[in-house]
Amino acid sequence: MKYISTRGQAPVLGFEEVMLTGLASDGGLYIPESLPHFTKDEIARFASLEYAELAIEIIRPFVADFLSEEKLQEVVKETYSVFRHKAVAPLVQLDTNEWVMELFHGPTLAFKDFALQLLGRFLDESLDHRGEKAVILGATSGDTGSAAIEGCRACEHVDIFIMHPHNRVSDVQRRQMTTVLADNVHNIAIEGTFDDCQALVKASFADQAFLKGHRRLIAVNSINWARIMAQVVYYFYAALSLGAPHREVSFSVPTGNFGDIFAGYIAKRMGLPVKQLIVGTNRNDILHRFFADNSYSKEQLEPTLSPSMDIMVSSNFERLLFDLHDRDGEKLQAVMAAFDESGSISIDPARWEAVKELFGSDRSSDEEVVATIQHVANESDGYLLDPHTAIGVKAARVCHSSNEVPVVTLATAHPVKFPESIVRAGLDEPKLPEWLSDLNERPERYQVLEDNKATLHGYIQETLKL
Ligand SMILES: *Cc1c(COP(=O)(O)O)cnc(C)c1O
Repeated sequence: MKYISTRGQAPVLGFEEVMLTGLASDGGLYIPESLPHFTKDEIARFASLEYAELAIEIIRPFVADFLSEEKLQEVVKETYSVFRHKAVAPLVQLDTNEWVMELFHGPTLAFKDFALQLLGRFLDESLDHRGEKAVILGATSGDTGSAAIEGCRACEHVDIFIMHPHNRVSDVQRRQMTTVLADNVHNIAIEGTFDDCQALVKASFADQAFLKGHRRLIAVNSINWARIMAQVVYYFYAALSLGAPHREVSFSVPTGNFGDIFAGYIAKRMGLPVKQLIVGTNRNDILHRFFADNSYSKEQLEPTLSPSMDIMVSSNFERLLFDLHDRDGEKLQAVMAAFDESGSISIDPARWEAVKELFGSDRSSDEEVVATIQHVANESDGYLLDPHTAIGVKAARVCHSSNEVPVVTLATAHPVKFPESIVRAGLDEPKLPEWLSDLNERPERYQVLEDNKATLHGYIQETLKL
């Protein structure tokens, strides 16, 4: 399979190079030149598969020129064996035709494990084969960093450096990162904000001299195609459980960077009968404003109770815009340049009307998040939603256009990760799962550094003895 850039200027690459590259050299995002398509009969035959077996079927066409069939089977089976629920992504019913898919049974209790557990193993496989070593450098305000660390802790060829803003992430989130004591895991608390951490990542990618050519620098942020690919699988898994391909299914997705829901769009394009895709945002609602008013425009960032969706711009949205501009890289380049210049774009009105046939959208305030958590706990025997998932559940209830078609909300995090909203809803604070219950007693290791590029690079050199 060949991958092209959304801006049309970067070289066409295979899966492995795309995985190692991240952002394309023309500033665009890589996307398959054409997608595999499954017929109704083929999808029907997937119905009896376990999660890992299904993942192998969905992922195979994307990676065929990277991994042998034997390796693919081995790596995917191992990846999903670390999840703590036998069904991997179990469905919970809230109402007639209303479901929640729990994507929080992985090692860091959030859906990002589905992609990052796989990506870590794929990277190690690739680097082993190439005889190379790599450094992953990332910034996190919480979920991404811990999922990346768990995904890479067993990698032989990767050292991972994750920066978080010192004293500005929750205790659970910090401990999920800093209690991983593997030799290749390096946590750094930067004396600054999340934006400062991100700026350090960006500056390091622009100036890689500190690595002295010894190692490859890799980003694992949500624009990496391998992450989207891994997330396509659970859309098939849920829909098959609810009667696809003989029945349509809708999904509601709490959304920030448009990565997770874009995987649902890809599933539909691969043949899955998806009726509706519903975007749920918090007050940082650039996506909701696009689907409600055809206005994709930057606004000030506001902190909310759902911090993993606090974004100004949705980095993966460019992939949908590419399709909405006839997959014409030159056209999209102009559109993105206009957005960079003015901070605001809209698309052709007829196209916008058409895309709304598939996509619905809704926005929740913090107060609405708390009310949804309270309401669902009352009506469903104390069932707890995390604040991100609550945004999805409300969006499903507001936007879903059919009573006959089941709607599945993606539960993106375990409620224990974000106790503040639960407490505000007047409910008892959830407990850590048994296997994580000693998290607060585990020893931590991290380095506090000032917000300075030279200091950071010096630390990495010293740590890796470059
Ligand atoms: C990352 C994250 C999201 C947003 O996912 P996107 O792919 O950026 O849309 C939602 N909920 C939780 C808990 C997350 O960690």
